[in-house]
Amino acid sequence: MTAPGLAGQSRSQGLGELQAPDAFVYTAHAARVVFGAGSLRDLEREVDLLGCRRALILCTPGQRRHAEDLAVRLAAKAAGVFDGAVMHVPAEAARRARDEARRRGADCAVALGGGSTVGLGKAIALESGLPIVAIPTTYAGSEMTPIYGITENGVKKTGKDAKVLPRTVIYDPELSCGLPVCFSVTSAMNAMAHAAEGLYAQDRNPVMSLVAEEGLAAFARAIPEIVRSPRDVAARSRALYGAWLCGTVLGNVGMALHHKLCHTLGGSFNLPHAECHTIVLPHAMAYNAVAAPDAMARIARAIGARDAAGGLYDLARDHGAPVALRDLGMAEADLDRAADLAASNPYWNPRPIERTAIRALLQNAWAGVRPGDY
Ligand code: NAD
Repeated sequence: MTAPGLAGQSRSQGLGELQAPDAFVYTAHAARVVFGAGSLRDLEREVDLLGCRRALILCTPGQRRHAEDLAVRLAAKAAGVFDGAVMHVPAEAARRARDEARRRGADCAVALGGGSTVGLGKAIALESGLPIVAIPTTYAGSEMTPIYGITENGVKKTGKDAKVLPRTVIYDPELSCGLPVCFSVTSAMNAMAHAAEGLYAQDRNPVMSLVAEEGLAAFARAIPEIVRSPRDVAARSRALYGAWLCGTVLGNVGMALHHKLCHTLGGSFNLPHAECHTIVLPHAMAYNAVAAPDAMARIARAIGARDAAGGLYDLARDHGAPVALRDLGMAEADLDRAADLAASNPYWNPRPIERTAIRALLQNAWAGVRPGDY
């Protein structure tokens, strides 16, 4: 596997321009990462290293068979399988999972799946303090962040707490070989959004910017490879390596316009998470381009494109991902309300949030116009 050092060549070309870093504060989050094809075999060892004896395995109904395989692997150290993970972590599902963990005498939880399952693990950890082992099978990156979200009475509350950060993350690329190609591309773009916004974050730092650039480069290379050959373990390794890096950026620096827009569209209009990120990302970059030229240059360099926004759009479109919100079923009539919501509750963004410009951005994202063509 040749994943590491992907952005190395372009970075060394840029070393001549290396500038003295601005002042920054960087707090590293401690999580143990076990990476590599076949690393699932180390699960029992990792549970032991946490000093745990009985693991409740969490999954969605669709991934139950794989979770049961883990239970067989853990034998007496498996407390059972809970397959109630669903999108947006309903409080009721978290309560049921916690009750199940207590009833079965679990002293840790293993979350096998994407952001929804890892999110369920976090909701358990938040209340009970149970250590979580995450085994990500998508590229969403939640496993590397102390951010949690729980939905109660139709409202998703998010917060940050070091307690929810998984203690160990096992990245086994073989587990993502069956991820459908279209979802692989949108999940990759979801991850790339963390890195792209991390490069212009208000609290960015040189280490996370390196990580972001490397993560973007990993995905720019992996996406075409996965589309060509979905079961190519080297391509899946590269993508999962990118997921780790981009998730790390999300966990360490603040996000801005793009994540706010996706949160609004997902929460208020029930649009699917990864697809929504894929469509909005190029337009959010186009919006911020004038205010964050250095970040745009680094994104473009990492993905091998002339410009960041157009390059991200092409990466999605050329690999079969949706590029228009209307194709997700969003009504044009909802764009005004979406713009109002996105422009309310001020938050930091490199370019000030202007309601008229946000409305135009949403119109372009809705119609699927390529940035640069408007
Ligand atoms: P997901 O976890 O909802 O998974 C989508 C579907 O894909 C599920 O049905 C799942 O069973 C299936 N799936 C997962 N892996 C598979 C595989 N390898 N093969 C076949 N099917 C597979 O989707 P997601 O995009 O990973 O996560 C989205 C959620 O994660 C959102 O709710 C989002 O808010 C959250 N998230 C949170 C953070 C954070 O830091 N807190 C970060 C990113 C995403």
